[in-house]
Amino acid sequence: MMYITKRMIEIRNLLTRVGQSSSVTLPSIVVIGSQSSGKSSVLEAIVGHEFLPKGSNMITRRPIELTLVNDPQAKVDYGEFPDLGLARVTDFSLIQKTLTELNQSVPESQCVSDDPIRLTIHSPRVPDLSLIDLPGYIQVAGENQPRELKRKISELCDKYIRGPNIILAISAADTDLANSTALQASRRVDPRGERTIGVITKMDLVDPEKGAAILGDKQYPLRLGYVGVISKMPVQTGGLFRRESSNLLASINKNEKAFFNSHPEEFGPNSGAATGTITLRKKLMHVLEQQMSSKLTETTDAITRELEETTYQFKVQYNEQPMSAESYLAASLDDFKHQFHNFANTFGRQQLLELLKDSLDQKVLDQLAARYWNKPIEDLFIAPAEPDSLVDLPKADPKSPYWHRQLDTACSGLTRLGVGRLAATVASNAIQANIDKLLDKSSFAKHPSARQVISEAAALVLADRAYATSDGIEISLKPYKFDPDIQPNEWEKGREHVVGVLQGELEQCQNALKSLESSVGGRKKLREVMGFVDKARKGEIIIEGDHPSGAGGFSAALLARGREAVFLRDRADIINMRIVASKSRKCKSLENKYYCPEIFLDAVATKLAQTAVLFLNVEMLNDFYHRFPREVETKLNEYMNSHGGNGLEKFAREDPKIRRHLDLVQRKELLEMVLMKIQDLHRFDAAGNVKADRD
Ligand code: GDP
Repeated sequence: MMYITKRMIEIRNLLTRVGQSSSVTLPSIVVIGSQSSGKSSVLEAIVGHEFLPKGSNMITRRPIELTLVNDPQAKVDYGEFPDLGLARVTDFSLIQKTLTELNQSVPESQCVSDDPIRLTIHSPRVPDLSLIDLPGYIQVAGENQPRELKRKISELCDKYIRGPNIILAISAADTDLANSTALQASRRVDPRGERTIGVITKMDLVDPEKGAAILGDKQYPLRLGYVGVISKMPVQTGGLFRRESSNLLASINKNEKAFFNSHPEEFGPNSGAATGTITLRKKLMHVLEQQMSSKLTETTDAITRELEETTYQFKVQYNEQPMSAESYLAASLDDFKHQFHNFANTFGRQQLLELLKDSLDQKVLDQLAARYWNKPIEDLFIAPAEPDSLVDLPKADPKSPYWHRQLDTACSGLTRLGVGRLAATVASNAIQANIDKLLDKSSFAKHPSARQVISEAAALVLADRAYATSDGIEISLKPYKFDPDIQPNEWEKGREHVVGVLQGELEQCQNALKSLESSVGGRKKLREVMGFVDKARKGEIIIEGDHPSGAGGFSAALLARGREAVFLRDRADIINMRIVASKSRKCKSLENKYYCPEIFLDAVATKLAQTAVLFLNVEMLNDFYHRFPREVETKLNEYMNSHGGNGLEKFAREDPKIRRHLDLVQRKELLEMVLMKIQDLHRFDAAGNVKADRD
């Protein structure tokens, strides 16, 4: 059993996961040969399957790093492309197709690429081997091939045939060895022939004596010797069907035996000639095992150095602070929960009340505008105000049914506007906005998808309660729809508050006026156009229809601004007046509610808000505080388990800082593991050597 090769291949796979550094290179067998020397046939015979790209025009453009894994458990042979995430491909024609496509992905202008295709083949019938198939040397570049193709192939091969790799130099028996490009290349880097195995293909095409002479070659002696093979597909005997490819090696072996056994003098046991694919396979295993074992100390030293460097970096950069995707998520979640807890402590009934009251203040202003102040822009050109208009409000006769109706309509407009829905929406929006703000300040800000998962968890919990909450609120507000029942102290509070609301509104009007001023080019200009609009309103100027080009020397756009400004000015006047009225002695008393609808509506709005908040607090806020953290955990768990169970790692790596930290920790852990494994191998190797010495 080729124990060391197997373990070293495992180690190499581990090392590629940390980005194998150039200082740790494990030996492989690199296969070189000129085109049509029979290179593919030899490789396929060793593997026992047809799987390499074929076709008259097919030039291998990328190295194929082929790892053979002896897997006694495998019920069927299969291949894997680790870089493509393609696992357990049992159909070797699909492997061939994939290799062909990967090969063709190199643009012709680039000729060849040194980016290897990695392929692993598992089978109980293959030995543990690490082989690299390189593009075949070409003699003369074909008509359609770029001139530098020949040079580029040769350069690519040179990269791979360096030590400690073993060179498998393929030459065909029917061409002169002196012309073998493979042997020429090998001699350049391995002049003493210490790590080159010569393979002579097409032994059936030359006289046995000549064949035997090549195998015993003295002109180009190789320490590891030559092996003669006949790896051409044996002629098919039965039908047109493709041969069971798992029998490929068996039939080649049979074919070879038939040939070599029929020439015992040249190839028999006493001839000293090494022949047959099976012999070649054994040789490869043996040589690779020896090479691996001879590189053990060197590799161990290299890994030790890597580990020392990594450990040092870990100390310097991270003060040896451990890091894993799990611990990062746990810490991020803990931190977020902590922030959430702080928020929950500061955001309660009072805050909800303020928010809801703010929204209702707007609704109060809407009612006031609609019932008392309203002068829509379109009306500005219509005749003066009707009787009973706002100007008459201060003189309102409490006995007049008109003012009763006005206040009743405004009040029911407020109580029936759907406060339940409004309250639930205001609360949901506020909570959601706060959660989003917390998220923006948390480490989840660097992980948009996970951030969205949490934000959506909040939305889900909130939406879940929205309907029941708004329904409950509506029911609890029912009595106010018929009788708001305002008390004197509530009146007093309403009076204080509404003045502030009106002042705020006034300020907004004034700001809007200011920005209109600057948009038309100054106060003077705006005054002019407002004067014109006023005159038109009073009927002093007749404007017929809508003049697209404007009127009175003003453009249509300017006139529109003018109308807006007039509306704002009038609104500001009215609000000013109402501020004075609300502050007046008359409005001190609840008795005079018909004079002071602003105060009355404000007091009603406060009552509505207070009652709604009792419900909101229990039904929505407390429920949210209870359920949200659990929902976050559930949803995050689902998210982390997605992506084929890779979600957690993917999540943590989204943050470049964490990714670097993780990389270093994982590199260190892997190197530690590799070092342990390789030290085990040392012990195994030493024990084997001691035993061998004793024997
Ligand atoms: P590559 O271009 O070096 O990969 O060569 P291939 O493996 O594709 O072989 C080139 C041609 O030589 C094919 O037609 C093979 O069938 C043929 N061939 C390969 N090995 C042998 C052999 O041992 N004997 C004979 N007679 N033909 C062979």
